[in-house]
Order: sequence, then C-alpha cells, then structure tokens
Amino acid sequence: MLKGIPVSDGIGIGTVRIIKNKEVKFDDRVIPENEIESELGRFHSAVDVFCERTKKMAEEMEQSVNPKEAEIIKGHIQMISDPFMIGQIEDQIKNGTCAEKAAENTLNQFIEMFSAVDDELTQQRATDVSDIKKRLLRILLGIEEIDLGSLPAGTIIVTKDLTPSMTTEIKKENINGIVTEKGGITSHSAILSRALEIPAVLSVPEITKILKDGDSVIIDGKEGEVLSDPTDADRQKYEKARVDFLKEKEYLNTFIGKDTMTEDGYHKEVFCNIGTPKDAVTAVQKDGEGIGLFRTEFLFMDRKTAPTEEDQFNAYKKVAETLGGRTVIIRTLDIGGDKDIPYMEQSKEDNPFLGYRAVRYCLGDKELYKTQLRAILRASAFGSIWVMVPMVTNVYEMRQVRGIVERIKTKLDKEGIPYDRNIKVGAMIETPAASLISDILAKECDFFSIGTNDLIQYTMCADRGNADVAYLYKPYYPAVLRSLKTIIENGKKEGISVGMCGEGARDPMLIPLLLAFGLDDFSVTPTSVLSTRSCISKWTLEEAREVANKAMSLPTYMEVEEYLKGIVRK
Ligand code: PEP
Ligand code: MG
Repeated sequence: MLKGIPVSDGIGIGTVRIIKNKEVKFDDRVIPENEIESELGRFHSAVDVFCERTKKMAEEMEQSVNPKEAEIIKGHIQMISDPFMIGQIEDQIKNGTCAEKAAENTLNQFIEMFSAVDDELTQQRATDVSDIKKRLLRILLGIEEIDLGSLPAGTIIVTKDLTPSMTTEIKKENINGIVTEKGGITSHSAILSRALEIPAVLSVPEITKILKDGDSVIIDGKEGEVLSDPTDADRQKYEKARVDFLKEKEYLNTFIGKDTMTEDGYHKEVFCNIGTPKDAVTAVQKDGEGIGLFRTEFLFMDRKTAPTEEDQFNAYKKVAETLGGRTVIIRTLDIGGDKDIPYMEQSKEDNPFLGYRAVRYCLGDKELYKTQLRAILRASAFGSIWVMVPMVTNVYEMRQVRGIVERIKTKLDKEGIPYDRNIKVGAMIETPAASLISDILAKECDFFSIGTNDLIQYTMCADRGNADVAYLYKPYYPAVLRSLKTIIENGKKEGISVGMCGEGARDPMLIPLLLAFGLDDFSVTPTSVLSTRSCISKWTLEEAREVANKAMSLPTYMEVEEYLKGIVRK
C-alpha cells in the first residue's frame, strides 16, 4: 500500500497509464539578420495558436466542469499575453536567438522566480508557467500535444505532475483515478480533479517508476491510498466501497438547494468554515447557506509582514460579495496556541494554549486589532458581515472589543465611509469560563458560536493534538455535553442566535443533542454541508429530545458513545 495526499474523494479501480511529458528538444540556432522578422512572426503565430487552443479548452471546460475552474486555464492566456514577458522574448529574438530558446529562457526565469517564493499559491504559478512553456515549445516545434482525450475507459492516470492543460483534455467518463508524484491539497490538479469528481491521490513518491502501463491498481481518494496488484478480496472490498460511496453521493445530492429543516419542519442553517476568499467560492458551490467561521489568521500566514487594512478589506469584501448577502461570520485574528505567525512578536511560552493568544493578543496590540476591525467594518457595507471574537473568557473582553468597534464607527462616520450600523458582534464560546458565564455573556453579545475544538480541550484538560490524551479529547464526555447544553440554553434564553463552528457541528452522533438543546446553525467544512443537512432532516425535535435526555443521563463517555452509535441517522 502506497500513501499520498488525498485530494479528491472516491474509489478508483482500473488500469495504469503512465503519462510522460515528452522532452521537447530543439536546435539552439542563431538567426541571421535577414530572418529576424520571420522568426518574430513565427513566435507571434505560435502565441496566437496557443491562445486559440487554450480559449477552446476553457470553453469546453465551461460546458463540462464548473465554469470557475475554466478561469485557471483562461489565466494562461493572460500570462502568455503579458507585454513584459512578450517584450523580453522579442528582444532576444531581435538579438538573433531562435524563438524556442528565447521563450525557454524567459519562461524559465519566471518559473525560477515563482518557485523561490515560499507560498503555495505563488509556487502554483510556477507550475502554470512551466505548463505554458511546454505547450508553447510544442507548438513552435510542431509536436502534437498528448492526447488524453483518447484514453480508454477504466484508465488510472499516473504522472509526475498533472498540469492544468492536461486536466482539461481528460474525458471524465474514461478516467477512474489520478495519481501524481507532485502537488498538494490546493494545487490546480487537486482543484480540477475535485471539479471533475475523479478520485485522486497526489504526492506519491516515485509512483511513475513503481507502476507501469497496464498494471492493475486501486486508489482511495479519501484515505490517500494506492494499492497495486490487488487480490480478488481487495477488489471485492473496494468495489463495495465504491458502490457505497456513489450511492451516498447520489443520495446527498438530493439535498442540493434544499432548506435545512428538521423532520418536523424547524428551520436550521448549515454554514461553512473557510480560511481564504477562495474557499468562499467552494462554500457556495457546496451549497453552504453562509460562512459560520472565516479563520482570518490564514491571511496573516505565509507572508513577511501583516496584511494592510486595504489587503484585509479586499479579502473580507470579496467573501461578502461571493456570499451575495448571506451571513459571513468573520473571526478576528486567533493567533497563538498552535497558530504561530513568525513576524509577529510572540514570546516563547511554557503553555501556549493557556497563554497570550487570540483576543488577549489583539487587545494587547490595539493598532493591529483596530486595523482588522476597521477593515471588517468597511467590508460590512458589501454584505451581511458579523464579527466574532475568539477565546473569550470574561465579559470585560467583549466590552473592550465593542468599545473599539464603536470608536471605529464614529471615525468612519466622520470620514463618510459606509458600513453596516447594525453589525453583530459575538463571542466564540470555546473556554469553560465562557461556558460557565454564558448567561451573563449572552447579554453582552449579539450571537454565540461554539468552538468545540477548543472547548473540548480546555474542558477535559487534554491537548487537542496530543495522541496520548486523545481518549479524553471527545465530545461525548458528560462534562462537555453539559457545557454545550448550558451554552445553547443560555444563549437562547437571551434571544441571541447560537451556532457551532467546531468539528462537533457535523458529527451525526451529536446532531440530535444539538437540535434538542436548540442550536440554530451548524458550520462545517464545505464538503460536509449536504451530509449535515441530511442528518438534521432525519430528526423531529421530540425524538432528538428523547435521545438527549437518555445521553445526558449516562455517567461515562463509553456509555454515551455506545448509545449514540446505536441511534445515528444519516
Ligand atoms: C474551535 O476551537 O472549535 C474552532 C472552530 O476554532 P479553531 O479550530 O480554529 O481553534
Ligand atoms: Mg478555537
């Protein structure tokens, strides 16, 4: 069994076809003076052919895959048409370099430049330029591009790296899976294989050498596994898993576009957790009804200095616009604990999870916080944005944050900058302190959102990442369940909305209890929207209350877990 990064769910069973990117070789000729004009002409016609073919690919893609994905390919036209890039190639041709060499030199410089930046998105651009280079050279040399469109049914594509242009040629119905040596969860090959709904496992070391054409192989796109030369028993097992996966998917798809309702007609909402504006697009594609948690710290990571007010404003505005008026809950910077931002001053702490983090850090660096809150307020003019404060432990923290928000509002008024005057400011309930005072905290907040990921670790005193205490890190302990009940009931008594954005929100064993306690919205990873909606639809409030009463009466987590396993509805 070989392991890689799981990027596109599903089971693929089929026959290996290794796709090698043929080396493009050319003579590095010197162009005599009198041929320079025609060499420039040859280069320009190659660019025209490139743009024409790419446009066609993008159009075909728009028909067969989600239109958004075609944007990646359209981006190649913009890149190759960049006047600076074109000018550099032309200058070399004018000095007697042949078109192939001039294009190779220039595009290699861009590849090197993008590869050197320690940022996945910029490195992705290096893959794009490398794809452009190979295709442009093939056009100049008259080499046919690899015809992935003619691969037979049942093929598992195995290749070093799947470039965006290769992905567009794929006939979805013939390809049962994709395995590569390169690429990660957010690489274009990952995005495109998910869009095509082809199971894919990326970054499997040496896979193009380990497998050969014609090998039988099974891939599991959920676990990131590649099984070569499977036995009959393996085949049977995975065939069943494949059929089950497809059936479940087909069933869950019936929930697309439906309201989230309990069986007896109580309306709930399923939101999404995101980390970037791009994720917001996925959230909408996956039918999320809003954003329940925008983890803004991702905007601060992988860079050398903090994003400016403008950078942040643009990111928040983009998410608000993508959601088209639906709720977007933006969590203010939650650094510290396991989230380290190198350029920010964070001294080494003995207990980082109990230290200077999240709202504590932000209230200690008011300039940083004011910049973020101002950017959020400005963006609130473009949608329905709520502000959420992480790691709250006391009422005074909420008062301080609200004070800053009010002062920024006054300034924005003076400057004539629009914002949502009724913007909601709420607390993330993820500490036992916040849970214990949730009755008084509810009076100071416009909403609650429960962060079970931290609430469990702080309630059970069990580090969320420590395998030795993982047996304590479970939501089924009576201490955690009582805390959830208290928070939701106190929030509801005060008339504010109560959501959950921790992993607990998508747990089918916990959902009936959350319904019974009165939770309003469930914020989950985009891929769990439909399963969460489906699970909610299976319960009436009366049934959910019965389950909750029984679960709350059991003294050990083992009994609770055992009981809840028996009542699961999906
Ligand atoms: C949580 O604590 O439940 C949560 C959603 O936030 P994070 O996982 O980012 O700490
Ligand atoms: Mg948290």
